[in-house]
Formats: sequence, structure tokens, C-alpha cells
Amino acid sequence: APTAPSSYGGAQGSTPSKAQAMDIVFISAEVAPWSKTGGLGDVVGGLPIALAQRGHRVFSIAPRYDQYRDAWDTSVTVNVMGEDVRFFHTVKKGVHRVWIDHPWFLSKVWGMTGSKLYGSKSGADYVDNQKRFTMFCRAALEAMKTLPFMPGEDAMIVCNDWHTAPVPVLLKNEYQKRGEFVNTKTAMCIHNIAFQGRFWRDSFGELGMPAEATDLFTFEDGYPKVFDERTPADENGTPATGANFAKTNWLKAGILACDKLLTVSPNYATEIASGPALGVELDKWVRSKGVEGIVNGMDVEEWSPALDKFLKFKYDATTVEAGKAFAKSQLQREAGLPVDPSVPVFGFIGRLEEQKGVDILLAALKKLPKSAPVQVVVLGTGKKALEAQVKALESRFPGMAAGVVKFDSAMAHCITAGADFMLVPSRFEPCGLIQLHAMQYGTVPLVASTGGLVDTVKEGVTGFQMGAFDPDSMSDVDAESVAQTMLRAAETYGTPAYKAMRDRCISQDLSWAQPAKKWEAVLTEMKFGPG
Ligand code: ADP
Repeated sequence: APTAPSSYGGAQGSTPSKAQAMDIVFISAEVAPWSKTGGLGDVVGGLPIALAQRGHRVFSIAPRYDQYRDAWDTSVTVNVMGEDVRFFHTVKKGVHRVWIDHPWFLSKVWGMTGSKLYGSKSGADYVDNQKRFTMFCRAALEAMKTLPFMPGEDAMIVCNDWHTAPVPVLLKNEYQKRGEFVNTKTAMCIHNIAFQGRFWRDSFGELGMPAEATDLFTFEDGYPKVFDERTPADENGTPATGANFAKTNWLKAGILACDKLLTVSPNYATEIASGPALGVELDKWVRSKGVEGIVNGMDVEEWSPALDKFLKFKYDATTVEAGKAFAKSQLQREAGLPVDPSVPVFGFIGRLEEQKGVDILLAALKKLPKSAPVQVVVLGTGKKALEAQVKALESRFPGMAAGVVKFDSAMAHCITAGADFMLVPSRFEPCGLIQLHAMQYGTVPLVASTGGLVDTVKEGVTGFQMGAFDPDSMSDVDAESVAQTMLRAAETYGTPAYKAMRDRCISQDLSWAQPAKKWEAVLTEMKFGPG
């Protein structure tokens, strides 16, 4: 194993201390709260802060999508791919945030941080995304070389998702070959393997990737996951399946070129290596590289029943009984359901898409007996057909179910606190936040047995496992499992067993503190060898 460089103070040949301080640079397309479409932004927002609190010098590099008020212009510019790029800088909560400034990011997105980072509408990528993110990756490496406060050679780099896959490719095939960044190691973290950066091959030559790296990107679709006007379709417009389309695949290149592959929960790590269905056709390369999973932490300031600005009656583990009772009556009133403390309320919050299994939940509600002693509140936005069904819940199940089709943080907090149970029937879920938020509020989760939901919710201890669901279609058996688990959970409501689960849920430390320790251990071993 390599020994600690002398600049870190370790005696030559000695085993470096586990607490050795490192320079860690996260490169990411999203950083919450500045930019976020999902879990990726949350991780790159929260994890660096926790690592900085452990004594490391931590940086993130992301595009400047808006004129962030807290970022100042460093006046440093570099030329990348013939374009002038500028760097902005923020220091917050002990972490350096570096922003890559160029019109390809700023004038495209203009602060619409929700949905326009990758395309003008969800699911539709900008045609020049390969060029945008190649430039971003090159600019990030130039920032490390150029900005006086940034670490150079000895840094550990953490890449995130396909947008940053060129970083390890460029390091190995270009920079290190000319003697730069020779000690730099890269980890690649997969936040959702369904997003891979698959593109038709013809524009690849314009990106200026090192020629010897071309094979890393080469890929054939087993079935087209990227539908566009060039995907052959039948007369009904249904894309062809089963054909092998020649593509480039960015995430594949990142997996092959990085020094260490990570993902956001141990069970998701097992799943993405298990086969083409859950590994979305990258399983073979995930297996050959090996992958380790570390469960995400959550933002325990935004989601704390003791600090929550949306709650009239704030509570903690010692006042959870009264606190939840108050929040529940408020939720029932707001949702237009009978205000009755004895009926258990089940919540659902999430994107109304197949991934989140909301269609399975809607089918399960039809299977419940008419007189079932449950109430259900669904909050979400997404696909129009699912939105229509959620809106119709009140008239379909009067006095029993209510649907709110809005993106509404106040309502999300109100459900998280006021519901007795939280439903998370996802078909796949790399880590998942909803169940973590719920537990932090003493709300007992019912989860599909997939991804991080398996690692974070223990059957009978901190919640209920509903089994794994069919990833690709709607199955009656799955709807039946949801209905049966709801009835099973409802039976425990108000019993000592329920209260014990609720109390265990709210007493857990779900912050970034523990995950940061694990990340530190992984990065330390990468840098210094097994300790
Ligand atoms: P994903 O990132 O896949 O969408 P997560 O469970 O990791 O799923 O995170 C979802 C986040 O979005 C949570 O913080 C949740 O509260 C929030 N959220 C989702 N839908 C809504 C909505 N309609 N209104 C308010 N917040 C929402």
C-alpha cells in the first residue's frame, strides 16, 4: 500500500492515522440549495459540510446556473474548448463552493433550478448536453489547477453521475500522461443508474475526448432507453425494442475510468450489479469494477419536528405523542378528511411517476374494504394521467382519501408530521429521502423492499417492508401487498408495538454524521491504502 506523503506529516512508512486530513473535491451538476432536481443535489449539498466538520478541506465545483447572491467573481478566467470560462466562489458552512460560469449554463437555465438544468422540459435533454458537460468537466480540472485556494495534485475527487464521467477519463488519458494530477484519485458515485448519458454516436468526435478513450464510451442499447426522433418506431409511434443501437454511454466510461465506484446504499449496490434489469444494462461493468454502497444522510435542520417552521406545535422524541396528535388534526382538517384521532392516516409524497409506485398505491386503495379504518393523503406532481387520478381521490373515496396535486413544501411538512404512517411503494429507489424524513418525525414508514429502503427501514423495528415490486409493469399482486400491509399496519395503530416503532424511528441519528465517517474511511483507504 502507498504510504502517506510527507507533507501530511506521517513518518515515512508508518500507517497514516485514520483521521488524516484530506483535500476533497466534489464535482457535480447539482448542489443544493443552489441547484437541485433530486437526491444528487442534496448529497453534494450535505455531505461536504459533514466532511468539513470532520476536519477535511472540502470543495464542490458545479455550474453557475444563476446569479447567486452569495457568490463573488474570482476574476480568474481560463480558455476551455475555445470558450472563455470564469470562476465564481462561495464559502458556506466550512465548504468552498466553486461555480463554473459560462453562457451554456447561465443563459440556458437562468435560475430555473428545478427542471431546466438538463433540458427545457423534464425528459428532454438539450441537444448540446455532451458539449456542455465536457466543457464543465474540463473547466473543473482547470479550476483545480488555476484557483489559488484550490488543492492541486493531492486532492481526492468525487465525481457524481454521468455529467462528470469525463473527469476520470481526462485525468488518466490526458492530464496524467503529461505529468499533471499524477497523485489524484477519483471516486465515482452513482445516484441513479437509470440516468446514464446515452447518446447517438455521431457527435462524439466533436467533443475532443482523447482518442484512446473512445472505447470506454462505446455502448450498444439492448433496448432503447433513449427514445428520440431517430429511434425506429412502428406505425403507432412505439419505439423499437430488442434492437442493438450503437450509442455512447457516459456513465459506462466513468465506471471504467474511476478508481473507486460508489453508490448511495449497500442494497442498491447489490441490485445494480445483479443483472441488466436493475443495473439498466451497465451491470456487467459494475460487477467488473466492484461497487460499495453508503446510505445518504438527510438535512436534519430543514426536516426536524423541533425546528419546523411549518408546524404550529413543534415536538421532539419526548413530546412526540402530543406533537403528532396536534399535527394530525391539522392535516385532517387541511385535507378535508374527518378529524378523528383514532383513524390512522397514511401519507404519500413524491413525483407522480412509475418509479415511485403511485399507480400501485392507487390500485391498492381499490382493494381495501369499503369500511377499512384508514385515511390516505397523497401529495405529488408528475404525469398528467396520474395527476388526474390523484385529484379524483376525494370523489372516489369520500371521507377516506384526499389528493393534492401541487409542489407544496408546507403540505409536505404537514403530511410528514401529521401522518401516522408514510407509504413509499417505489419500484426502485437508490436511497430515498421520504422514509428518512418520516422517521425523523416519528412517522412509521411502509416501504417497498428495494434499494436503500431495505437498508434504512427494518421490518417490525422501524417500519414495514411490502416486498419488491415488478420494475416494469403494473401487477395485481403488488397492489395486493400494499393493501395487505396497510391493513396490517393499521391494526398496530395505537398499540404499544406502534408506539415502540414510532419512538425508535424518531430517536435515530439520520444526519450526515455517520455517512460522512464512512465516506472518510473509503477516501482514506483510496488515498493511503488499507489502514
Ligand atoms: P427523488 O429525488 O427521486 O424525487 P427523494 O425521496 O430522494 O426522491 O426526494 C424527494 C424530495 O422531494 C423530498 O424532499 C420530498 O419532500 C420532495 N417532494 C416531492 N414531491 C413533492 C411535492 N409535491 N411537494 C413538496 N415536496 C415534494
